[in-house]
Amino acid sequence: MNSIELGGIGMTSQRTRERLIQRLKEQGVKNQRVLDIMRVTPRHLFLDEALSQRAYEDTALPIGYGQTLSQPYVVALMTEALLSQGHREKVLEIGVGSGYQTAILAQLVGHVYGVERIKPLLNKARSRMRTLGLRNVTLAHSDGSVGWEEHAPYDAILSAAAPEHVPEALLHQLAPGGVLVIPVGPEGDQELRVVTRQAEDAEFEEQVIERVRFVPLLSGVTR
Ligand code: SAH
Repeated sequence: MNSIELGGIGMTSQRTRERLIQRLKEQGVKNQRVLDIMRVTPRHLFLDEALSQRAYEDTALPIGYGQTLSQPYVVALMTEALLSQGHREKVLEIGVGSGYQTAILAQLVGHVYGVERIKPLLNKARSRMRTLGLRNVTLAHSDGSVGWEEHAPYDAILSAAAPEHVPEALLHQLAPGGVLVIPVGPEGDQELRVVTRQAEDAEFEEQVIERVRFVPLLSGVTR
């Protein structure tokens, strides 16, 4: 990959990216580390070439297989919520998709474990992690509605796909003091929830931070 591809030209240039960051600030994103990492992460590398011109618009974009690259504002909001109580070492991401959110997290936490149920999307995400030199990411082709028991417990879990109800397994795999950031509800009418596990006991505290639109969390995997 040469520097033009990584740095971007025209609509993927630094100025275009700066406008997006400005917009995120105006919408209330305050965490400076999140804004800085989003400024330097080339979102156009997570899209097919035909769409890369639109990479720095604050909108969700198609990545094939009926799935979407999340809207930057939503990525920022979820990442900010995940970091709101300070550093998170071990993070589980459900619904890696393009790998954009994965790349943002990898630059802000200790290690990201990511699962995706659509094999070709996972393969592409994997090669993007290599291109960007992100080594603290472990990806698997599996169904995240049951979490990823092998590496549990997690300091934080982020889901980019919406179940109708919070899966029990995800609550079980949260470490004490851990946080789960997840859209919940039927298609087209979901709320973004932040569920925090108390440090001393297995009690959970829940907060709704935004109304959102996500693709559904489906079970099983596809080749
Ligand atoms: N953060 C991603 C979002 C992709 S859309 C991005 O910005 O690119 C959500 C993703 O969740 C889709 O790729 C979909 O295939 C995946 N998904 C849905 N249900 C899943 C499940 N049970 N396990 C793992 N991934 C799932």
